[in-house]
Amino acid sequence: MELAGKAALITGGTSGIGAATALELAQGGADIVIVGRQATEGAARIQQAVRALGRRCELVLADVTDAAACERCVQQAVQMLERLDILVHAAGGPCNGNIMEVAPEAWHDAFAVHVDAAFYLCRAAIPHLRKQSEGAIILISSVAALRGVPNAIAYGTVKGAVLEFMRDLARDLAGDNIRVNCVAPGIIRTPFHAAMTPEAKRNNIENRIPLHREGKPEDVAQAIRMLVCNDFITGESITIDGGMTSRVP
Ligand code: NAP
Repeated sequence: MELAGKAALITGGTSGIGAATALELAQGGADIVIVGRQATEGAARIQQAVRALGRRCELVLADVTDAAACERCVQQAVQMLERLDILVHAAGGPCNGNIMEVAPEAWHDAFAVHVDAAFYLCRAAIPHLRKQSEGAIILISSVAALRGVPNAIAYGTVKGAVLEFMRDLARDLAGDNIRVNCVAPGIIRTPFHAAMTPEAKRNNIENRIPLHREGKPEDVAQAIRMLVCNDFITGESITIDGGMTSRVP
């Protein structure tokens, strides 16, 4: 897919991985709608950065745990940009705790933002993607879907569900030339890790990540751009983790 002249809807586009993706796709010539729950300074900064590239960047405020809000995000994006070619669902946050610690509400909330929102956003977006000769959907999984992680039962489960949702959707949409892929990031420095202690950070860098550094949102955004643009990749997931899941402990 050539990005020039295309339109992308990016949930979670106001921060972290989603924001870096907005900038990356705009650098290729796409117009962007970003979604978050709040009109933050970060959201304004990313809009300004995209517009400085000569591309459009509109903000839609919505909580994507709500099915009707997902539908509205897609409709507003199509209204604003007059088409839709790319959907990136990057909204979401952590859900910590083992099975006895995670409250049932937190379990359901994790499914709502990571899995249910993917379902509702894709259902709303697919009719618009089908109007074009090609389309791309990117979902954000995690290394937590690839390995057992202590105290992350809900998060690992939803990210595993996202991987399988991606594979099945990729099969269903291949005939429409709509490609569906995932990225599986490792430890990427964003507000997602605001609660990480300095000790945990040091342990990650010294002992857990072979490249001895945390990832940047741009590292993930570059992989997302590649998956959007490469015409022959679908049903695939790319891990971006500095070698963390490749190592023998
Ligand atoms: P982040 O910097 O905290 O950004 C999260 C984004 O999601 C923000 O734009 C936030 O905006 C939005 N968001 C959260 N809940 C929302 C909701 N209910 N409705 C609408 N928007 C919502 O986090 P990030 O690191 O970029 O994470 C992005 C994705 O990558 C998540 O799916 C996360 O699980 C995944 N991931 C991250 C890492 C990592 O190390 N950072 C690793 C693996 C996977 P508002 O707060 O304004 O709503």
